[in-house]
Amino acid sequence: MNTDRKARWAVRQSALPTVVRPCPDCSGTRHRPSGKIRVNANGKLLDVWLLLSCAGCDRTSKVPVHERVHVSTLEPARREAYENNDPSVVWELTMSAALAAKNGYRLDWTGTWAVESRMPLYALDDPTPLTVLVGFEVPAPVRVERLLMLGLGLSRTEVRRMVGDGRIRLPLALDAKAHRDFELTLHGPGSVDAVNAERSKRAGERPGAAHVDLSRIGPPATSRQEPRSVSAGA
Ligand SMILES: [Zn+2]
Repeated sequence: MNTDRKARWAVRQSALPTVVRPCPDCSGTRHRPSGKIRVNANGKLLDVWLLLSCAGCDRTSKVPVHERVHVSTLEPARREAYENNDPSVVWELTMSAALAAKNGYRLDWTGTWAVESRMPLYALDDPTPLTVLVGFEVPAPVRVERLLMLGLGLSRTEVRRMVGDGRIRLPLALDAKAHRDFELTLHGPGSVDAVNAERSKRAGERPGAAHVDLSRIGPPATSRQEPRSVSAGA
C-alpha cells in the first residue's frame, strides 16, 4: 500500500480570547482588552495593570500584572513596552493563562482560531491513504470535531460518519480537545476494508484471520447524495 500522501494543516490563532469575569456595572461577563496598559510609579515601586473593556457597557477594569515591584526587577525594554501600550504585550497579557489563573478569571477561546488546510475536496475520494500532520500555533485546546469540520469543509454529521466508518483515523476522541501536534489518516471510500483489517491486526489477531465486517462499510460513495458544506464560520 502506498502511504506516501502527506498533508500539513496549521491551526492558527485569528483573534484574542475573551476575558470572562463579572462586570460590576452590568450583567455582562465578557471583556476585551482596551489596548492600553497602565503603569504607576511610586518612588522605585511600580504597579502595572492590563486594562479591559466590558463588552456590555464599555466599563474599564484593571487586571494587576505587577504589584509594587521594584523598578530594577523589570527589564528596561519590558517597562518601555508597558509604557507604550505595545500591542504585542497587550496580546501576550490577554492570552496569558497564568495571569488569568492569578486573577481568577476564565479565557474563552471560542472563534479565535482557524485551520489552514488547503485541502482539495477530491482528496477525500482518493483511495490512497493521506496522512495529515496537524500543527498547533494556537496556545489553547481546540475541539477535535470542529477542527475536522473546518479542515475538511464537512458538516458535523459527515465528520462523525467518516470517523464511524473508519475513513478518518484519529489518535484522539472526536469530543476531545487537542492542544498539541498530532497525526490523523484519511482513507478513501474503497479502503475501509483495509482499515478494518489493520485494526484487527493491531488488536492482536493473526494477519490471515483479519475479518472484514461488511455491514460497517456502508453504501458505495456514488449513492451518497448529500452536498458538502464548506462554510463554517470560525
Ligand atoms: Zn459591563
